[in-house]
Amino acid sequence: MTEVIDLRSDTVTKPTAEMRKAMAAAEVGDDVYGEDPTVRKLEQIAAEKIGKEAALFVPSGTMGNQVAAMTHLQRGEEVIVEAESHIFYYEVGGLALLAGAQARTIPGRKGFMEPELITAAIRPDDLHFPRTGLLCLENTHNRAGGAVLTAEQTRLMAKAAQEQGIPVHLDGARIFNAAIALGTDVRVLTAPVDSVMFCLSKGLGAPVGSILAGTNEFIRKARKNRKVLGGGLRQAGILAAAGIVALEQMVDRLAEDHAHARFLAEELANIPGLTIDPAAFPTNILICSVAKLGISAARFSALLAQHGVLANPVSATELRFVTHKDVTKAQIKTAISIVNQIVKAINQF
Ligand SMILES: *Cc1c(COP(=O)(O)O)cnc(C)c1O
Repeated sequence: MTEVIDLRSDTVTKPTAEMRKAMAAAEVGDDVYGEDPTVRKLEQIAAEKIGKEAALFVPSGTMGNQVAAMTHLQRGEEVIVEAESHIFYYEVGGLALLAGAQARTIPGRKGFMEPELITAAIRPDDLHFPRTGLLCLENTHNRAGGAVLTAEQTRLMAKAAQEQGIPVHLDGARIFNAAIALGTDVRVLTAPVDSVMFCLSKGLGAPVGSILAGTNEFIRKARKNRKVLGGGLRQAGILAAAGIVALEQMVDRLAEDHAHARFLAEELANIPGLTIDPAAFPTNILICSVAKLGISAARFSALLAQHGVLANPVSATELRFVTHKDVTKAQIKTAISIVNQIVKAINQF
């Protein structure tokens, strides 16, 4: 059987041996009654690490973002989002369905929206207009290839909303990747925003779970919204135990994923027919065009899969490669040689 090298996403990571041990040994209770000591411990550690007063354990990043939207927004309000953002693009219309909000998109450059565009999108007080109730940011930016927002960019965007009394939510599913790439404390990146969500799964390797963080008051309300979505879990300490290991042991090693991505990008850039600018991808997500080969990204992805390399098409001509803890340097090298073989075969025709 050919070995499978799975570069589709960092969501495919499996829990570590330490996580499984911690899960087996976790002290648990009914978390809906607030009686699970391991969940409480995770929420405390997470709040501390992310630099907010309080934190809430949620089953998924999507639920974290949606609970944040429900908590910040009133029905019929407008939420400003970046046009390619996860919360707008990949969350099944939840802003409309769950928060009852209307999304207003602004184009960004690698996730950065010009503050003047944000200011211009904020609705004046007018009988005809919805009230602007929230601004959402995303760091790292998924569809922009793991692009990083600096603390200064975050501050500038947040200020445009906050100076008009509008709160700011950060979709920080991969915020620790951003902090590692910038070599900064993650709290510098979250300080400007009112609430933040990050994933314990994905690169940090926990099997399940995300964190929503903000003020004590915000989290108290968010807890109720989590409950209405069915996210009130009982003996969730089993899951939270893995989250604690993720936060304590798995953050610093994200640098390795970034180094692997860099190496992969540089090697792909040398293959004739492929187009990728390694400098454009500072974290663990790469986007590579196969347009010059005259083949669709879907077809290229299928050819790769026949050789045991998994990578998803993200447009008609582009493939996405994501590095993570369960792909070794040796496997990256194997993947590169398989890409090379396939490209050579295509170029022969
Ligand atoms: C993965 C992701 C989410 C959602 O996380 P799930 O746990 O898959 O629901 C939200 N935002 C971004 C930017 C993501 O990459």
